[in-house]
This record gives sequence, C-alpha cells and structure tokens, in this order.
Amino acid sequence: MELEEKIALVTGGGRGIGREICLTLAKSGAAVAVNYSGSEAAALETARLIEELGGRAVTIRADVSDYAACEAMFAAVEEQLGAPDILVNNSGITRDNLILRMSPEEFSDVINVNLQGAFHCLKLASKGMIKKRWGRIVNIASIVGLIGNAGQANYAASKAGIIALTKSAARELAGRGVTVNAIAPGFIETDMTAVLSESVREQMLGNIPQKRLGLPADIAAAAAFLCSGGAAYITGQVLAVDGGMTMGG
Ligand code: NAP
Repeated sequence: MELEEKIALVTGGGRGIGREICLTLAKSGAAVAVNYSGSEAAALETARLIEELGGRAVTIRADVSDYAACEAMFAAVEEQLGAPDILVNNSGITRDNLILRMSPEEFSDVINVNLQGAFHCLKLASKGMIKKRWGRIVNIASIVGLIGNAGQANYAASKAGIIALTKSAARELAGRGVTVNAIAPGFIETDMTAVLSESVREQMLGNIPQKRLGLPADIAAAAAFLCSGGAAYITGQVLAVDGGMTMGG
C-alpha cells in the first residue's frame, strides 16, 4: 500500500484508461477523486468499484476545458478528501479529419480539452503540491504527439503540447519535490479505438511489434509506477507504452 494517505485526482476517471488508473491507484492505497464531464453513471461505477476494493472515492463533475469549473473541482476535492498529492491528466477527446476538411472548431475543441484542460489542472494541483513539498503529476499524451498522424493534426498537436507542458512543468517543479512525467500510449482497447474499422485495426497491428493492442491496465501500471517512490528520480520524461511501436523513434 505504497500510496496510503495519498490523495489522487484522475481526470476522465469514469471510463477507459482513466477508470483503470483510478482502480490501480486505489489498490495502492490512494483515496481517489474521479472526475467526469458527461459520464456520471460511469464515474459512479468507478467509485463503487474502488469502494468494493476497500478504498475511498468521490466523484466530481467538471469540464476540464473550463477553468472556473476546474477551480470549483479542486475546492471540492480539497473539502472532501484534501489537496491532491497525485494528479493524472487523462481526459481526452478526438475530432479526426484531414487538415483540408478540419474546421477551426474541430481544432480548438481538441486543444481546449486535451491541452488547455491539462494546463488548468496542473496549475491548480501544483499549488498544494508545492506546499506539501511532494507531488506526482502524470500527463497522458500519445505516441501521435511524438510521430504525428494523418487525420489527427488537432489531436497530435494537443499531445505534442502536453509533452512540452510536461517538460516545462518538470523543470519548474523539480526543486519542490514534485515530479511531472508523461505517458505516451500506443493503441489501447477503449471506446476511443472501438470506432476504428477492422481494416484500420489490421493496419495498426502490422505496425505493432508485439502484435496486439494495449489494454488500459498496461497504461495504469505505468502511471502507478510514476507515482511510486521508486520513480522519485524520474521527471520530465515521456514513457511510451505502445508494444514497441515507436522504439528508436
Ligand atoms: P475514452 O474511453 O474516450 O475516455 C475519454 C475520457 O475523457 C472519458 O473519461 C471522458 O469523460 C473524459 N473527457 C472527455 N472530455 C472531457 C472534458 N471536457 N472534461 C473532463 N473529462 C473529459 O478514451 P481513452 O482511450 O480512455 O483515453 C484516455 C486518455 O488516453 C486520453 O487522453 C487519450 O487521448 C489518451 N490516449 C488513448 C489512446 C487509445 O488508444 N485509447 C491512445 C493514446 C492516448 P466523460 O465521458 O465524462 O466526458
């Protein structure tokens, strides 16, 4: 129970990768604030699963792209559990389109949730962490933020932005006992990838040396490691969890 007495906030913790991260941190002893924006039932189910494990959880609605809503969320977490020691910026959306067809709104919507939202929560979390002189921030990026992807200029730009945000925050917070790292998942089995056609999946598998899509648990294990004492000397890094897709890239 390495994270006993720690308080974690996971954005988009209701479903997909976020839910698995919530459960894994709870198994390590952390009390977990499960953020959601639209999926209330899923967030309540994540909290129920945590309580079933003997853990402590609260659910908090906030659209991470809305700074005032994030401020209210942090106030609510602080009141109900205490200031977060751990922040996992996991919320993310896609609005795929080729650049010629992509509307400015499709571009800005993705930046606003994926990048601006991560900044909002990082800013609000770092204050309490600096006070405690201990903190762990894990930002969920993507391998497309490293290598780009046709049809995902908005999403790839948001994820490349998260990587630069991670490195900058890591430099600012390194002397305060706070580490900031990013995870770059490859293709993971969630609602986000369930929409892909069979031919796209086959094509993707051809590019994955391990010949399988990843599971949310693969990402959650990496996140829990980056929050652990064993990762105390790791900051400003991008850990690709992708079955070998980007090795050497
Ligand atoms: P998912 O199943 O589609 O879940 C997305 C999560 O983001 C949901 O919990 C959703 O909550 C939350 N979210 C969306 N808009 C939000 C907003 N405005 N405010 C707060 N939360 C919001 O996706 P996933 O596959 O688990 O992805 C999780 C993260 O991993 C994302 O950052 C994604 O970009 C990244 N990632 C995924 C893959 C993959 O292959 N699946 C690969 C690389 C990176 P609500 O439903 O409550 O809105």
